[in-house]
Amino acid sequence: MKRIALLFLLVVVYSDTFSWGFYAHKHINTHAVFLLPPQMMVLYKPHIHFLSEHSVDPDKRRYMVQEEGARHYIDMDHYGKYPFESLPRKWEEALKQYSEDTLKRYGIVPWWIQTMLNRLTNAFKVKDQAKILKLSAEIGHYIADSHVPLHACSNHNGQLTDQRGIHGFWESRIPELLAEKEWDFFIGKAGYISNPLQFTWNRVLESAAAADSVLLSEKKLSALFPADQKFSFEHRNGVILRQYSTDYTLAYNRMMNNMVERRMQQSVYAVASFWYTAWVNAGQPDLKKLSYKTFSELELIEFEKLDAAWTDVYPKDKICN
Ligand SMILES: [Zn+2]
Repeated sequence: MKRIALLFLLVVVYSDTFSWGFYAHKHINTHAVFLLPPQMMVLYKPHIHFLSEHSVDPDKRRYMVQEEGARHYIDMDHYGKYPFESLPRKWEEALKQYSEDTLKRYGIVPWWIQTMLNRLTNAFKVKDQAKILKLSAEIGHYIADSHVPLHACSNHNGQLTDQRGIHGFWESRIPELLAEKEWDFFIGKAGYISNPLQFTWNRVLESAAAADSVLLSEKKLSALFPADQKFSFEHRNGVILRQYSTDYTLAYNRMMNNMVERRMQQSVYAVASFWYTAWVNAGQPDLKKLSYKTFSELELIEFEKLDAAWTDVYPKDKICN
């Protein structure tokens, strides 16, 4: 019996994943397509698989590119208390107050979304189909990350409060269990965003404000729940995965009043609305008449490298989980 228990322990691995989890990022980009007007649907719908698959490229890039990590989060608690007024919302003004190194150390997601929005708008202006698709897939990632409370808080994986694993619990385990079966993502139409930076900051501040209850609810539940029922074990590809049990996951989701569903729906709306805003700001080009429809040799190599990198190398900077 002892030997079996030991063997069990040896093969147990944690089922942590990445920001929003790959599953959720793919789900968010896919559903965002259905909020677009018909003039955009002509391009986005036939490429829905690409938009879904490449929604996770920014996470894969973290294994290759040092600067990538900071684009996925911002530790708002580094800047004092809500609403963190000591941090200027505009990049140029923030730079006057803090060094670039400091800003990058604590994360730059709100500003990076602006950079991506400008790039996407330019891609629409020059009617470059390959760039439009690649940038659409990737901006979707960063926008979705900005909706995750633990991406706006330095205690990003509960490492400071003995709650390691909570990151993947919130953004992977819960959506994987519930999104397909229970949640609704047909949530109307994309809207035009007249002030994208302000929009993003509103979402980031909501994320930062919710981080406490994400952590505190789990602490409370963990104290109440029978310890031997908190985790379950599952065979997958020859290994035994330890994961939060279904009962524990459902109880946590109830405690947070479906916060994960709401944030995921808001992510879907925001992603579609940023795509739409870029297209409108570019003068609503006819998406049936685009050039550069295929990816260059270099871009295809880059996709392959990303895939290889995330399977081979462990990220050197702060990772989401
Ligand atoms: Zn991410």
